[in-house]
Amino acid sequence: MNGMIDRDPIVASRAQYDLVVVGGGIYGVMLTLESARRGLRPLLLERDDYGAATSWNSLRIIHGGLRYLQKADLARFRESIAERQWWLREFPDLVEPLTCLMPLYGRGLKRPAIFRLALAINAWLSPTRNQNLRPDRCLPPGRVVTPVEVVELFPQVDRAGLRGGGVWYDAIAPDLQRLIIECLHWACACGATCLNYVRAERLLRAGDGVAGVEAADRIDNRKLAFCAPVVITAAGPWCREVAAAFDRDYPQLFRPSVAFNVLLNREPLSSAALAVAPRRKGAGMYFVVPWKGRILAGTYHAPRPDGAAPEPPDNELVGRYLEDLNAAIPGMDLALKDVLRVHWGYLPAARAGLARQADRPVVMDHAVQGGPRGLFSVSGVKFTTARRVAGQVLESIAARRLIRLAESNGERPTGRTVPTLSAIRQWLRESPDQAQRFIAQLRKEESAITVEDLLLRRTDWGMDPRQMSEMERMIEALTRLACSRGQERSVPCSYSE
Ligand SMILES: Cc1cc2nc3c(=O)[nH]c(=O)nc-3n(C[C@H](O)[C@H](O)[C@H](O)COP(=O)(O)OP(=O)(O)OC[C@H]3O[C@@H](n4cnc5c(N)ncnc54)[C@H](O)[C@@H]3O)c2cc1C
Repeated sequence: MNGMIDRDPIVASRAQYDLVVVGGGIYGVMLTLESARRGLRPLLLERDDYGAATSWNSLRIIHGGLRYLQKADLARFRESIAERQWWLREFPDLVEPLTCLMPLYGRGLKRPAIFRLALAINAWLSPTRNQNLRPDRCLPPGRVVTPVEVVELFPQVDRAGLRGGGVWYDAIAPDLQRLIIECLHWACACGATCLNYVRAERLLRAGDGVAGVEAADRIDNRKLAFCAPVVITAAGPWCREVAAAFDRDYPQLFRPSVAFNVLLNREPLSSAALAVAPRRKGAGMYFVVPWKGRILAGTYHAPRPDGAAPEPPDNELVGRYLEDLNAAIPGMDLALKDVLRVHWGYLPAARAGLARQADRPVVMDHAVQGGPRGLFSVSGVKFTTARRVAGQVLESIAARRLIRLAESNGERPTGRTVPTLSAIRQWLRESPDQAQRFIAQLRKEESAITVEDLLLRRTDWGMDPRQMSEMERMIEALTRLACSRGQERSVPCSYSE
């Protein structure tokens, strides 16, 4: 098997699967990958493009869980360390160390002595963090630095009362969109079938059990049936909607809160990610991350009414966040005009109406609630730990004897190198045939259907919105040119229902 992410819904509808996964965010992708690696035949259905919803909007930090030590949540800490090590080991070209710096002002847990102790415990409890990693992906232990060193690393730091800084190492996936696509290649190489732009609509039943899913191909509006005795929905903020269509609404699956990051039209303030907070009681901690020559700052959380449908944060909410950043970093003077893009999504809240995010994923066996046998729902809380949750879900379904798992194996196919924005621009101008071949390959081997899929989720060519329309024009012109040569169909600009 070659790992191509082939999109052929009609051929796919003729096969029998071990399970259908609904939702192609990171949770659905990891369920697909982990089940394929354990000898099962999974089918993944995604109604839009892979990873286009909450997962695309993540701050891209692969958390080692230092903050869970503060709450003495050792289980979550250990899980995060293990998962970060897995990402760094399996995807060393896409996941890299991230230096983090927190200025310390000598209050509460943020005193240099306390922070030094926390970093020592962090290193002591994570002896395996660098096991089997490429040397340039290993993470050194953290340390506490002097105020002078903090200023060297972060010249704009608020110096009043500065007592030092905590420096530690985490990981980041700057091209997180490629991570999702590479996981799909891996799953397909192990025998998975993946279909984007196919919306799961109705559960097919056999007595009190599951027989599969009826779905709509959104490209040609054809209805198709996909057969499997197990269906797992991993539809993120839409998991209640899918549960309601397949069985009934379960409010405990997802109580929404909104979370967002802002991409700022500013040069990075430091080579490190800065952990800063405005100096007022109860203020949140924000990460100011250098990303592709600009700043990605997050994450701001706000409450949403229970059952609210996802809608983007308005200017007032974004403005409130900018005020917090201005208060945390003197001289930033951020205004709405500095925001290039708001990366936002709905996350499960700890309780209805709260801004605080839930700590743990929810995994539901619908049969236990009186629903169909073989139907499961998963609602996760972190990108970092999606693989672990997927493994646990599969183990619990295997314990109910609905699937049989083999040993996890399956080599990852070699990853693809994507040209940078400047390289593709040059190709588009000077060597359109080469650019056209590369784009055609992405469309065929990675199911890139729209220009947006290509610019935002197979490459990073549209990450800066100021370049998006120019790139769209160039690619459309190229595909029209190709079309007139009879070699290539034009790429639809955007998908509409
Ligand atoms: C602003 C922000 C910052 C974050 N930062 C981090 C971070 O730094 N590190 C970290 O580890 N985590 C972070 N997270 C959390 C992480 O992004 C989420 O936990 C994770 O992406 C959720 O993935 P998911 O697969 O559950 O949901 P999604 O990515 O939303 O995927 C659900 C998918 O289901 C599809 N779907 C819905 N209905 C149907 C249907 N009927 N048929 C087929 N498909 C359907 C949707 O189209 C969607 O693609 C952040 C989240 C946000 C919002």
